[in-house]
Amino acid sequence: MTVLPVRTVPDPVLRTVADPVRDGRRDLRRLVQDMFDTMDDVGGVGLAAPQIGVGLRIFTFDVEGQRGHVINPVLETSGELVTEPGEGCLSVPGLRYHPERFSESVITGVDQDGNPVSYRGEGLTARCFQHEFDHLDGRLYIDRLSGEERKDSRRKLRDPSYLRITGSTHAERAETINSSFGGYR
Ligand code: ZN
Repeated sequence: MTVLPVRTVPDPVLRTVADPVRDGRRDLRRLVQDMFDTMDDVGGVGLAAPQIGVGLRIFTFDVEGQRGHVINPVLETSGELVTEPGEGCLSVPGLRYHPERFSESVITGVDQDGNPVSYRGEGLTARCFQHEFDHLDGRLYIDRLSGEERKDSRRKLRDPSYLRITGSTHAERAETINSSFGGYR
């Protein structure tokens, strides 16, 4: 079991478009397992590879009874734009906002063995897929805010005391984990 430190803002890896996973990577199984271990350890409903510093198009999820991982995902959205339920992000700790998301989504890709996979969700699950997919394009949920929530998030993220908190969260976590960095690139 390997729990990796979760990268937090303003780490540039969170703002970088992730690369597609090429066929035949031998370390894929370990990476996916480490992502599940990390997601479970922090109690997240989803985790994208850039959040552990790996610039590859993979995310894991465990939301409303659906658990899985998807590699090189394609996202399709439908339904209406809604702001509930709210959203948080392991990489933007301590905050919670209500960005607009489509009420339904389907994520399609392959699993670690190269088999096609497809997952469909509504509500929180649909939101989770859209949130994790955004991470692969270097986009954070706070980018999708408007009005007062947008102003509030910008104020918080500029606040040196907020960045000190995220920095120390990161450092504390880094001390307690059995890091296996460097194996994925
Ligand atoms: Zn996130």
